[in-house]
Amino acid sequence: MQEQTHYIGGEHVKGGSGRFADVFNPATGEVQAQLPLASAAEIDRAVEIAQAAQPGWAATNPQRRARVMMEYVRLLNRDMDKLAEALSREHGKTIPDAKGDVQRGLEVVEFCIGAPHLLKGEYTDGAGPGIDMYSMRQPLGVSAGITPFNFPAMIPMWMFAPAIACGNAFILKPSERAPSVPLMLAELMEEAGLPKGILQVVNGDKEAVDAILEHEGIASIGFVGSTPIAQYIYGKGCAHGKRVQCFGGAKNHMIIMPDADMDKAADALVGAGYGAAGERCMAISVAVPVGDETADRLIAALKPRIESLKVGPYTSGDDVDFGPVVTAAAKENILKLVQSGVDAGAELVVDGRDFRLQGYENGFFVGAHLFDRVTPDMEIYRKEIFGPVLSTVRAGSYEEALKLAMDHEMGNGTAIFTRDGDAARDFANRVNVGMVGINVPIPVPLAYHSFGGWKKSAFGDLNQHGTDSFKFYTRTKTVTARWPSGIKDGGEFNFKPMD
Ligand code: NAD
Repeated sequence: MQEQTHYIGGEHVKGGSGRFADVFNPATGEVQAQLPLASAAEIDRAVEIAQAAQPGWAATNPQRRARVMMEYVRLLNRDMDKLAEALSREHGKTIPDAKGDVQRGLEVVEFCIGAPHLLKGEYTDGAGPGIDMYSMRQPLGVSAGITPFNFPAMIPMWMFAPAIACGNAFILKPSERAPSVPLMLAELMEEAGLPKGILQVVNGDKEAVDAILEHEGIASIGFVGSTPIAQYIYGKGCAHGKRVQCFGGAKNHMIIMPDADMDKAADALVGAGYGAAGERCMAISVAVPVGDETADRLIAALKPRIESLKVGPYTSGDDVDFGPVVTAAAKENILKLVQSGVDAGAELVVDGRDFRLQGYENGFFVGAHLFDRVTPDMEIYRKEIFGPVLSTVRAGSYEEALKLAMDHEMGNGTAIFTRDGDAARDFANRVNVGMVGINVPIPVPLAYHSFGGWKKSAFGDLNQHGTDSFKFYTRTKTVTARWPSGIKDGGEFNFKPMD
């Protein structure tokens, strides 16, 4: 049995708390490693090291910091296969999907190569007589990130790449379910030239998270995970005076207008609903066809596609559309919610409850499910299922469909499929959701835009990656300067415009 480590001060360090968590291979159900769960003392140690290393890194000019990012991109590409395999083994997603996970993080590293440009401040020459005014963006010090299981490469990189490019030290507390790739990412950063102590990985659970939230030496916290924990971390982190951004769960609606290309809409829904076994915060989990005739055509197009989806382990290569879910508890929760949908009267058009995979009976596989005639009062509509389950809610009109997306408490992503530019434009303008797709089912913004939901899908004001991340990981200092003899005329006592 492998024993995992922390990565502190540039070394793999054994856990010291005596507490461990099991790391599973979701395809076989076997425990493949023991993960140490850090105590507050181990967090203290990482913060101490980060605080000692950070000033030197902040004083390294931004172009040199960017060169580390450049080399990091090369190393990520070099090790792509290794990273993807480790990721799939702990998460369960297919190898091409795991490579996409690394790739979408890598693109944020590429964006961060622009740090020298992105960190340039503002300057006003002659803001008053003999007065210049300028602002600069300075790093915060030590930042921490708490990340979910479903993107073990991408989401840590979304956080630590901009944080480090801005001159901060970063402590990552990854998910207990998929810790290998975060450890590999930290090692690779040092191979790229990052000084020891600037990127550290401390594994743990609530105890480590609480130690991070309360630590005086940590200036900012980024969190991605479920909404109840996002809300907890946002509240507690802010109460401890930290800068905090938290991204939570989702229930993403896709509206299908009567004029949509039904084959394209169905293909899009299958990929967006069942890819990664539905374990994506940008998965479409609710299909909203407008009009009964559209709904009937949609269900007819979806049913054969969903029934022919191939579920299996990542080791089966291209033969698999999606893998197992992450834990036995996740599987149980998904099947419980499916049962609640049946009990509440929703029509189970594709029933995956009896799915079994020969040779993998202990794996956490869940078959694909499709519900029709779901209504907003049902638990399967209100809750995030985070599994291969798509719910169809029939809407009588466009306004009714829009209202559904607007009234749901989650607001991460949404999409509309239509050939009508007017409907698409109206939807994009009015819907109260952070990321909108027009004939695009998973509208994840690219690295140079920013990622973030609305409503209970996000807490805090700045988004992830893009220019927002450079704002989140720096603070502005504004200098008003008068040279060379501004004070020789005596002091000024009134607060007045610079005329
Ligand atoms: P999770 O909330 O269970 O865990 C996320 C992190 O929080 C982990 O590092 C975990 O160790 C920690 N944590 C868990 N319970 C805690 C507690 N009681 N106190 C302190 N820390 C705790 O989420 P998950 O199951 O790993 O990930 C799935 C969730 O993440 C889904 O809800 C999904 O929608 C969401 N997600 C959101 C986004 C986004 O950008 N909005 C992206 C990916 C995933």
